[in-house]
Amino acid sequence: MPNGLTHLYVPGPTNIPEAVRRALNVPMQDHRAPDFPDLVLPLLADLKKVFGLGSGRVFVYPSSGTGAWEAAITNTLNRGDRVLMARFGHFSQLWADMAEQLGLDVVCVDVECGAGVPLAEYERHLSEDKTIKAVFATHNETATGVTSDIAGVRRVMDATGSDALLFVDAVSSLASIDFQQDGWGVDLAVTGSQKGLMLPAGLAMLGVSVKALEAAETSTMERSYFSFQEMIKTNDVGYFPYTPPVPLLHGLRASLDLLFAEGLPQVFSRHHRLAEGVRRGIDSLGLSLCAVAPQWYSDTVSAIRVPEGVDPAEVCRIAYHRYRTAFGAGLSTVAGTVFRIGHIGDLNEVMCLSALASAEMSLADAGAKIELGAGVAAAQNHYRAASSGGESDGAIGRLTPAAPGHRGDLR
Ligand code: PLP
Repeated sequence: MPNGLTHLYVPGPTNIPEAVRRALNVPMQDHRAPDFPDLVLPLLADLKKVFGLGSGRVFVYPSSGTGAWEAAITNTLNRGDRVLMARFGHFSQLWADMAEQLGLDVVCVDVECGAGVPLAEYERHLSEDKTIKAVFATHNETATGVTSDIAGVRRVMDATGSDALLFVDAVSSLASIDFQQDGWGVDLAVTGSQKGLMLPAGLAMLGVSVKALEAAETSTMERSYFSFQEMIKTNDVGYFPYTPPVPLLHGLRASLDLLFAEGLPQVFSRHHRLAEGVRRGIDSLGLSLCAVAPQWYSDTVSAIRVPEGVDPAEVCRIAYHRYRTAFGAGLSTVAGTVFRIGHIGDLNEVMCLSALASAEMSLADAGAKIELGAGVAAAQNHYRAASSGGESDGAIGRLTPAAPGHRGDLR
C-alpha cells in the first residue's frame, strides 16, 4: 500500500481544501424546500463578486466548463454570425471548433505556440470587418501556460468602435488571476468549478453582462438545457429549473468563504508569488517555458519544455508511478515537447517546492542532464525573500512584493 499523500499538480482538478471537502459531505436535501433559496441566493450574489460583475447576472449549470462555452454561445448569438477568435493551444482550439460546429462563421487567427491573444491582429480584423458580432479570448490557455491581456482586447474593441460582444474563457484564471468583468467590459465570462474555485468538476459558471442578457432575448440559436431564460425564472426566487448538484453548491459556499477570508487580491498575489518561485526553479534547471516572453507567463500553470531527447510523457509517467506526483501532460500540438506543473488553487510555498523536487527527480530519471536541487533552491530563495516582503535577485518574471496582509495560512 502506498504511504503518504499523492501529490496533485495538474492545472485542474485542483486540491480541495479540507473545509470545502467537509462542506461537500452533506445529507441530501430537498432542492424545492422553502429554505433552499437561503443557500442559492447568497451564492449567486457572491459569485458576481468573484467575476467582478456589478450589474448583469451569473448562471450556474450542472456541467463541466465546456458546457459554459456552449451556454455562452447558444444564448446570445445567431447561426452564421461572424466571430473573431484566436487559436494558441488545446483549449482555445477546442472553443473555436465548438463555435464552428454550432454554425458560427469563425474568423480564426493562428498564433505561434507560447503567445496569446494577438491584439494587433484583432485590431486589424475589427477595423476592416464591421460585421464581427463577437470577439473571443481565452484568458489563460492551460495547455501552454499563457495568460492574455483581456483589458487590451477591450481597448482594441473600443479603439475600433466595435460593438461586438466580448466572450472570455476564464476557466483556469477566475479566482486565481486578477479578473475584472465590469472593468474590462467582458460580456460573457465562463469558468468551471475544478480550478480556482477548488471544487470537484461539475459546476459550469458564467458571468453575463446586461448587454449579453439583452442579446439573449433576441438570439435565435437553438438551446434548451442551457437556456438563460429558464434559469432566470427559477434563479430569481432561489431555485433551479432542474435538479442541482446540492453538495457542490454547499462546497461552493465554503470555497467562496475561504476566498473572501483570504481576500481576492491576496489570492492573486499568492498565485503570483508561488508561480514565480516555480518559474525561477525551472530557469535554474536550465529549462524554458513554453510561454515565449514574461508578458505571457501564467500564474496558474507552467508548461515546461523538456530537453532534446527527453520524452515529457515519460517524465509524467515516472512522476506518477515512482514519486506519486501528478503533473499535467502535454496536450495537442505540444504533446511531445512539454509537461505542466499546475500551481492553481489551494497551494502554498512548500507544496510548490515538493512539485519542483519531484519534477527534478522525474526529469533526471527520464534522462535530462540537470543538477538535482538547483530548481528547489532557486524557488526557496524566492519564497524566503518574498515572505519577508522583499524581492530576490535576477527576476525572470513579473515579481511583485508579497501582498500586505497576506496571511499565508496553512489550511
Ligand atoms: N477552457 C480552459 C482554459 C480549460 O483549461 C479547460 C479545462 O481544463 C476547459 C476550457 C474545459 O473545461 P472542462 O474540462 O471543465 O469542460
